[in-house]
Amino acid sequence: MNLRIPGPTPLPPSVREAVSRDMINHRGPEFARLLHETVEGLKHFFQTSQEVLLLTGSGTGGMEAVVVNLFSPGEKVLVASIGHFGQRFGDICRAFGLQVQQLDFPMGTAADPDVIGEQLRADPEISAVLVTHNDTSTGVTNDIEAIAKVVKAADRMLVVDAVSSLGAIELKMDEWGVDAVVTGSQKAWMAPPGLAMVALSQRAWDAHARKKLPCYYWDFTAARKSAAKGETPWTPAVSTVYGLHAALQLMLAEGMPAIFERHRRIGRYVRDGLKQMGLRLFADERYASDTVTAVWAPDGISAKDVIGKMQEDHGVVITGGQGSLAGRILRIGHIGYVDVPDIQMVLEALSSTLQGLGYSPAGAGKVASA
Ligand SMILES: *Cc1c(COP(=O)(O)O)cnc(C)c1O
Repeated sequence: MNLRIPGPTPLPPSVREAVSRDMINHRGPEFARLLHETVEGLKHFFQTSQEVLLLTGSGTGGMEAVVVNLFSPGEKVLVASIGHFGQRFGDICRAFGLQVQQLDFPMGTAADPDVIGEQLRADPEISAVLVTHNDTSTGVTNDIEAIAKVVKAADRMLVVDAVSSLGAIELKMDEWGVDAVVTGSQKAWMAPPGLAMVALSQRAWDAHARKKLPCYYWDFTAARKSAAKGETPWTPAVSTVYGLHAALQLMLAEGMPAIFERHRRIGRYVRDGLKQMGLRLFADERYASDTVTAVWAPDGISAKDVIGKMQEDHGVVITGGQGSLAGRILRIGHIGYVDVPDIQMVLEALSSTLQGLGYSPAGAGKVASA
């Protein structure tokens, strides 16, 4: 099976081997060593000197953890949304009684830093901006460096959902001044689901010390205290830590610049291949993501049929749209353990499936060789 959804992603052989290892005492010396090495590897990819906390939960758990650890009831925040996952960040903030000003940018485009800056200047009560780095629902990557500039100029906090980008697309947490970053083990990290990884700036740790929202399981003070002893407060997803540790060794060996370049190369390859088939990309290409690509299903052809036939006839698994885009778009994940030949297979399967469903524009059936 060629699994090409934007997470969970396939696992390299050494990661599969690692996750099958037997259990150890999660409060013993082996785990302390494992945790230490894992966190050191993560700090490298977060591009931060801050502690990276390992939380057992999915990416959404990490997003919720950040909200309950930084804010107080009634606090005003700005959520800049470009799709499903920006909406989710807003929903989490609303669920915890924050006052949410939500700025919705048209789906398929990126957030405009100038508009965010204007909103911040107009409303001094807004304490933080929450934004998605890479919205997996539309295949759009925001310019976090530019957003961080306007947020810093206005002296507010910046919280970034980097679940489907960190480890594949550049994000310089410390240098750009990002205050909180969240990611998840099953996306760029080539590991199974089960862990959210979070880092906070000093400013965010200060906000944490003042915050009033209650929490227990997600408490970052408890997480930091335990981390200093080589532990996590509660039983961690040990197997996922094994997997993440093994994946980080592969990532460190490949090197951060080479990983980013591989994702850029594959991103271009997917977009070029889809356009050669005569298909229309969903996202404005200026902001196109290098980890996931969304494309309109051709007129008269159901996205669901395409996805079903690709899996049945070709063993290639892609996915469809979320929310209002369900049934209308196809999404191809190219994140983590992926190279051009994997995606060449996807494009060939898509082309053949579309022809089988009666689609025949000029160029259909042709897939550039890798
Ligand atoms: C996958 C994803 C999430 C949610 O992660 P879960 O692990 O499914 O909870 C959040 N944000 C983005 C951008 C994602 O791609």
